[in-house]
Amino acid sequence: MQENRGVWVYIEQNEGKIEGVSLELLGAGRKLADKLEVPLAGVILGDSIRHLSDEVIYHGADEIYVIEHSVLKQYRTESYMKGVIQLAEAYKPEIFLYGATPNGKDVASAVATDLSTGLTADTTMLDVDVEKRLLEASRPAFGGNIMATILCKKHRPQMATVRPKVMKALPRDSSRKGRVIEEKMDLREEEMRTKVLEIVKDVTKPGLADAHIIVCGGKGMGDERGFQLIHELADVMGAGVGGTRDVVEAGWIGHDHQIGQTGETVTPKIYFAIGLSGAIQHLVGMKNSETIIAINKDPHAPIFGVSTYGIVGDAHEIVPLLIKQFKEAFKKGGEKTHA
Ligand SMILES: Cc1cc2nc3c(=O)[nH]c(=O)nc-3n(C[C@H](O)[C@H](O)[C@H](O)COP(=O)(O)OP(=O)(O)OC[C@H]3O[C@@H](n4cnc5c(N)ncnc54)[C@H](O)[C@@H]3O)c2cc1C
Repeated sequence: MQENRGVWVYIEQNEGKIEGVSLELLGAGRKLADKLEVPLAGVILGDSIRHLSDEVIYHGADEIYVIEHSVLKQYRTESYMKGVIQLAEAYKPEIFLYGATPNGKDVASAVATDLSTGLTADTTMLDVDVEKRLLEASRPAFGGNIMATILCKKHRPQMATVRPKVMKALPRDSSRKGRVIEEKMDLREEEMRTKVLEIVKDVTKPGLADAHIIVCGGKGMGDERGFQLIHELADVMGAGVGGTRDVVEAGWIGHDHQIGQTGETVTPKIYFAIGLSGAIQHLVGMKNSETIIAINKDPHAPIFGVSTYGIVGDAHEIVPLLIKQFKEAFKKGGEKTHA
């Protein structure tokens, strides 16, 4: 266990494009590696993906491990886990981070099982105990009522999946230099247990995760009719619409609009939090938004603790006034910021 050194980030790529969460993890990984005084490395697998190495280094890595193979053209658990395990066994990292995306979670759990190590899923905070060289991976637990910090004391690497949009990527620095380590892998297509026959892309509208402005409403909107004000305000600005779990459960809006621990994590430029209390399970999904504007009739509502601007008052009076003001402003020549 003592021989394990270094912080690794699994770099997820799809069709030659690096997933945003991987760059965010390089930002988080950089801090951990600096504290531990070890290199930060990326791990990337795929077909014809070597050119992505530079981007990984520009975003904070000191090294990147690359496995290129035609069998790795599309993600499959079997081939990708084999590649990651081969690297982890050869180079022995002490910490290994993955994005909590469908493929990231899939490969991380398979790798953890094979290496007989622990995996903290859906982490929202990362730190390290330098003296004990222990990763402190925190996530909501027991129904979201507490934040639990989970340690993996006896096995290496210490692994965690981290939700997209929770950590911050470092600014791209194209003057950074790093080491590229290319590894060979013995893979044969005919030995693969699964075949990719066809890829069907989901062409539904982009999720809330990409919206620049989000208007989110809570139970304080009263009922489904009252919640229409949230849609109206969002429409005026071309914003996305979000809801708390309580309004989703009440059927005022669909689950794909839910923001929070069991919904989406979002980081828009502007987040309107209207008629919602700011429960911890909601906050974990939106607290990193750039500007938070809260409207609540209770001056002690927890949402005011994270908001940039707060308006204490009745949403049913304030929101129509905002709609009117924004409409007039846009009529005078302003443009909608399309979310
Ligand atoms: C395991 C677990 C997972 C969860 N996951 C999520 C999740 O992903 N997302 C999520 O949102 N929640 C989640 N929850 C639920 C969460 O704990 C809260 O219950 C929920 O966020 C509260 O929703 P709310 O703010 O709409 O309602 P409330 O907490 O009831 O708040 C309503 C707010 O509206 C204000 N208000 C009332 N009338 C007006 C008015 N006329 N004008 C202005 N303000 C008004 C009130 O002062 C109050 O602050 C989860 C809970 C658990 C246990």
